[in-house]
Amino acid sequence: MDDGPVHRRRRGPHHPQGPGPGPHLQPDAARRALSGPSWGVPPWRVELPPGRAALPERCDVAVVGAGLTGLAAAYTLARQGVAVVVFEARRLGAGASGRSGGIVLEGTSAGPLPEADDCIATLERTLSEAAIACELELPGCWELTHAENGAPLWRDGERALSLSETVPGGTLDPGKLLGGLAAAAVREHAELHEQAPVRGISGGAPLVLQIRDRELRADRVVLALNAYTASLISAGEDFHPALTLALSTQPLAPGTLEAIGLGARNPFYTVDEPYLWGRPWGPDRLIFGGGLAFAGSKRVERVDIRAQEVARSLAQLEQRVRGLHPALADMRIAERWGGPVAFRASRTPILCRHPSLDGLILIAAYAGHGVALSVHLGRLAARTILDGGTLPRWGEVVSSSEAREVG
Ligand SMILES: Cc1cc2nc3c(=O)[nH]c(=O)nc-3n(C[C@H](O)[C@H](O)[C@H](O)COP(=O)(O)OP(=O)(O)OC[C@H]3O[C@@H](n4cnc5c(N)ncnc54)[C@H](O)[C@@H]3O)c2cc1C
Repeated sequence: MDDGPVHRRRRGPHHPQGPGPGPHLQPDAARRALSGPSWGVPPWRVELPPGRAALPERCDVAVVGAGLTGLAAAYTLARQGVAVVVFEARRLGAGASGRSGGIVLEGTSAGPLPEADDCIATLERTLSEAAIACELELPGCWELTHAENGAPLWRDGERALSLSETVPGGTLDPGKLLGGLAAAAVREHAELHEQAPVRGISGGAPLVLQIRDRELRADRVVLALNAYTASLISAGEDFHPALTLALSTQPLAPGTLEAIGLGARNPFYTVDEPYLWGRPWGPDRLIFGGGLAFAGSKRVERVDIRAQEVARSLAQLEQRVRGLHPALADMRIAERWGGPVAFRASRTPILCRHPSLDGLILIAAYAGHGVALSVHLGRLAARTILDGGTLPRWGEVVSSSEAREVG
């Protein structure tokens, strides 16, 4: 069932004591690392707009989760005069969005899908419209295969790694993209609340959200939790969160990028197992990633990067990277970190209206894709709310029997 369009009102969310600027939540943190208690620290930094202290009682649309998906939805809605409030359990970008490799890819992990086949164009349009500078470069992305195709590029253990194809794509700085989107949303009068975990959602038209010791009523909710979805609401049996791993090098010796064939700064990923991705970063550094640690309980926040098998996977990743090319054998590692991803068997993302929580749109399970896709789907969900349109059929997954409310 499609909801009607949301009313566009140029007004803020309803605060019982008036909106007021409120004290900043973390005034000392204009620039800070996205650390996590058990996931390591990625290299990206996010410059944050000031947070708010006072929670409103009512808004048109509540966005749950301040990753790229939630922020893109909030920015798009606020730009059209909708009163939007974003709730983030920890800090902006504390999830996958602040921990990604920043490789820009087209389509979804399942390939291009109707209405998700022009994600890079959406990203470029958003950057230009919201004046976000995030070092976007689009030299094309290399697809590598474990085979001897002509002159192999590198070695992955005993096997050769060769270039198979160059597909549309490139790189950006995820911290700058996040900070830029958050600032753009705030400029358009969206409210952002950090350290504000939503603990339950119930009702319908309006939906009632439990946050801290308060309740907030919202006509619509965009649930943009990606791999954390199952901690708030059931996403069905076919939803598999995991932690994926990454590392960055210290600055490499002059000429190393050219020596290993990355002088044109193409990012890359393997199209076959074992999976490996990577990208140049800055003038002389590299970032690599691969490996998964699945969350048996479906609660990805319970996976610890220090656990024995996760630490072993990180060590294996480091060993693989050192073996790719002799010029990388002695590289020094700067950061090691992990971040949350979620998969469905089909690898198509979830993008649907919740069958029993009237007015709630669920977006999740990007399966390791997502830098361009999250911005695209966040904006697509927002447009659906604005215009009362339909969502693509490929995003449907949650049957009534699987959905449950938690509180
Ligand atoms: C290590 C790593 C590398 C990656 N590299 C790439 C790449 O190079 N290219 C690419 O395309 N994709 C990549 N991805 C995938 C991509 O980063 C994600 O698909 C994308 O960022 C998802 O964005 P999101 O906003 O949907 O989710 P997230 O960024 O995970 O945001 C969800 C947010 O919800 C918050 N939250 C959780 N529970 C609650 C609650 N109860 N209440 C309120 N807030 C809550 C979390 O704190 C989090 O901030 C990578 C992912 C990882 C982990």
